[in-house]
Amino acid sequence: MKGGKLIVFSAPSGSGKTTIVQYLLKQEELNLDFSVSCTSREPRAEEIHGTDYYFINLKEFKQHIKNHDFLEWEEVYRDNFYGTLKTEIERIWAKGKNVIFDIDVVGGLRIKKKYPKETLAVFVKPPSVDELKIRLKKRKTESEEKINMRIAKASVELATAPQFDYIIENKVLETALQESKEMVLNFIKK
Ligand code: 5GP
Repeated sequence: MKGGKLIVFSAPSGSGKTTIVQYLLKQEELNLDFSVSCTSREPRAEEIHGTDYYFINLKEFKQHIKNHDFLEWEEVYRDNFYGTLKTEIERIWAKGKNVIFDIDVVGGLRIKKKYPKETLAVFVKPPSVDELKIRLKKRKTESEEKINMRIAKASVELATAPQFDYIIENKVLETALQESKEMVLNFIKK
């Protein structure tokens, strides 16, 4: 532990948390670096190995589980595993930076539990589940079946919101961005 902070952004898929996280990464005064997760899902067209995710196969993923390499991991959707390697945090802290995570609610709360003082856990709330569906359809990155799977999970995820340090409602993106930046700035100054 090198005194860096951990900033967790969790939300149902389609809430806009990735947009918020990407915005925060560009704010130099926050001194953030992105925790690149491992996943067993297929890369989307624009995604880059080592930048967006470490894309590994199921066998490799299971080997990491066996070796206790993960700080946390989840089968977020059926046969789609996601996990944070312990070495990611070490890599970022060694650079003297704070870590920002874009992970699901279970993983986010797990990190908060493991590092209660160092972690700011933020839940990004979509205006409604209907709005979520519209956003996911617009995004066109998932099949109808996968969208339905993500929507079904969203209600369960929304129920965990009170366990987070902060809830940000992503109704107007610009407001959510400013609110997020202020919150992170206050936390890292502590
Ligand atoms: P997507 O397939 O849309 O990139 O991600 C699906 C969900 O998995 C998102 O909620 C994303 O934040 C989450 N996720 C990404 N990386 C991790 C991780 O390392 N651990 C956990 N628990 N969830 C993750």
